[in-house]
Amino acid sequence: MTHSVTVRAAAKVNLHLGVGRHRPDGFHPLSTVYQTLSLHDDVTVTTCPRWAVDLVCEDDIDRDAFPMGEENIVVRAGRLLATHHGADRAAEFTVRKSIPIAGGLAGGSADAAAALVALDRLWDLQTSDDDLLALAAQLGSDVPFALVGGTALGGGRGEVVAPMLDEATRWWVVVPARTGLSTPVVYRRFDDLCPDAPDEVTLPEELLAALAYPDPDNRILATLMRNDLEPAAIDLRPELGELIEAGERAGALRGIISGSGPTCMFLCSDRGSADRVRTTLLDAGHPRVLVALGPVSGTHVVEYV
Ligand code: ATP
Repeated sequence: MTHSVTVRAAAKVNLHLGVGRHRPDGFHPLSTVYQTLSLHDDVTVTTCPRWAVDLVCEDDIDRDAFPMGEENIVVRAGRLLATHHGADRAAEFTVRKSIPIAGGLAGGSADAAAALVALDRLWDLQTSDDDLLALAAQLGSDVPFALVGGTALGGGRGEVVAPMLDEATRWWVVVPARTGLSTPVVYRRFDDLCPDAPDEVTLPEELLAALAYPDPDNRILATLMRNDLEPAAIDLRPELGELIEAGERAGALRGIISGSGPTCMFLCSDRGSADRVRTTLLDAGHPRVLVALGPVSGTHVVEYV
C-alpha cells in the first residue's frame, strides 16, 4: 500500500506575455508563451484524517507569505479532487519550497497541479487527463500549464494551453526578490499605465517561429521576448529596471521580468555565460542568484513510499 507520494512542481517563465485591456468581468485577455524551469518545489502527500500543511524551505523563502491552513492552494486542490470523486478524504501536504512566493513564477499554481497528481496517485483515483485539466483550470489560470509543462502557448485567461514542440535547452539566471509583488496590484498598475491597451491580444508570430526554428545561441529569441506587465512592475519597484540593466551588462542576452514579477530572469547563450552573470550579480550584492534551465517536463511523480 502507498503511504506517501512526492510530485515535482516546476516554476515557469513567460517568454511572451501580451496583456489586453481589462474586460467588464475584471479579467484581462492574455496571450502567453511560457516554459517550465528546473527551479522547483516538491509536494509530498501523506494519508491523514484531516487537511494539514507543512513547509520546508531555506531562509530566503518568505515563510510568512505561505498560508499554513485551508487557504493554501494545495488544500483547495485536495478538496476539489475529493469532491469531484465524491470522496470524504483528507491528507497532509509537505511542500519543499524553492520557488519564491509571489515571485511571478507561478509557484502556487505549480504546487496546486502537483497536489492534484499526488493525491490522484495516493488514493488511486485514476482521474482522466481531461478531468485533471478541468479541475486545474478551476484552481487558477496557470495551473493547467503547470500540469502539462514544457513550452506552451496559453490563451483566454491563461487556461487554454497548447503544447509546443521546443527541442532547445536554454540557460537562465533567476534573481528573486526578498518580498513578492501582488499580481492584482501589478494588473491595477498596468490598467493605470495602459488605458489604451487593445481589447484583443495577438499571437506572437515571430517568437513562435523563433521557437520552431531555434538559433543555436538564442540571440533571435532574446530580442523577441516581451512582457506587457514589465513597465507596471518596474513602476512599482524601480530597482528592477536597474537590475535588468546590470544583468545585461554582465553578459546576459536579455533580462526580463517573469509574469507579474518581481523575479528577474536573464536568458543566457549557454551555461558558462549563465554562471558568469550569476557571479557578477552575486558580487554586486544580490543575495540570491540561481541558474536554471528550461524547458523541463510538467508535474511528475518523483517518489512513492
Ligand atoms: P502568479 O504569477 O501565478 O500570480 P506568483 O508566482 O506571483 O503567481 P505564488 O507564489 O503562486 O505567486 O503565490 C501567490 C499567492 O498565493 C501568495 O501571496 C500566497 O499567499 C498564496 N499561496 C497559497 N498557497 C500557496 C502555495 N502553496 N505556494 C505559494 N503561495 C501560495
